Amino acid sequence: MKEAMYYEKLDAGKVRCRLCPFNCFIDEGQTGVCKSRKNIDGKLYSLIYSRYTGSPFDPIEKKPLYHFYPNWKIMSLGTIGCNFACEFCQNWSSSQALAERGERILSSFTKEITPEDAVKIAKSTHKKGNAGIAYTYNEPLIGYEYVFETAKLIKKEGLKNVLVTNGYINQEPLIKLLPYIDAMNVDIKSINPAFYETLCKSKLQPVLETCKRAVKSCLIEITNLIIPTQNDSEEDIEKLTDWISENLGVDTPVHFSRYHPDYKLDIPATPPETLIKAREIAMKKLHYVYIGNIWGLEGESTYCPSCGKIVIGRSGYMITSYEMDEDKKCNFCRTKINVRGTYWKN
Ligand code: SF4
Repeated sequence: MKEAMYYEKLDAGKVRCRLCPFNCFIDEGQTGVCKSRKNIDGKLYSLIYSRYTGSPFDPIEKKPLYHFYPNWKIMSLGTIGCNFACEFCQNWSSSQALAERGERILSSFTKEITPEDAVKIAKSTHKKGNAGIAYTYNEPLIGYEYVFETAKLIKKEGLKNVLVTNGYINQEPLIKLLPYIDAMNVDIKSINPAFYETLCKSKLQPVLETCKRAVKSCLIEITNLIIPTQNDSEEDIEKLTDWISENLGVDTPVHFSRYHPDYKLDIPATPPETLIKAREIAMKKLHYVYIGNIWGLEGESTYCPSCGKIVIGRSGYMITSYEMDEDKKCNFCRTKINVRGTYWKN
């Protein structure tokens, strides 16, 4: 356990967590909405500090990040718990583990990996193509203290930090963390506030604020899980795309991801045609639009926005071609492509 960085002590042993926009009031012996932060004797603690489920090395493309250190691997740290309880969660066995089964399962589901342990592993694998650490799988920001400490150490070693997040964090902790973060994939689950309120029991606006703040400091890619009848209308896709192009820029990579029935939602999986249509709509405003969770469609590769040729070819998470020079200019027409970092040659 680790004492939380952002909270206030109140009367009668109560505390108020200030990490995410829920700003939970927490009585002694109780946890907040995320179930991972507990009031013990009038102090707030993170229960998941240093408790991680493992550290596999994923292709960086799997985060998904298609414009950041292509073809590198990234050590991927995840634990359990989330501050959202999305009815359609595609990863609910870990995200909802604390909510469904309580904190006693922490010791059986996770093992101790201290920030120092994590950095040691990341450093020793860098020469084999590991770019750094991705904080991923569950919502990493509820484990803020761990991410903050580890990210600082990783940065010192010259490696990279990646967040895969729902973006639900207050501005003060976000601003403190951003100098150590190199890339983020943020879920914008829908551009419709009612979607967040109904299906996620949260709010859209703080997520948009996170994106606007983060884009000034690191590479940001957006994921939108398309769920039939819930957020798949042409109007939804147009509104989302307009917001991204106006606020984050037309070079922001966007991933439309295929939903399948999971957790509490049994709507049938997203038809491929819906994803193809969404990409078609988004490509009118944005330069880099991808389709995920389904392979073999056109939205796997990166196309040069000027000449239309493939500059990074992909088959699933595998890179099949790379056609850019060291300055990230298209080999065919010299247009600059929004890609950060070097290409890992196997
Ligand atoms: S991080 Fe958890 S405890 Fe803190 S405000 Fe958010 S949901 Fe509540």
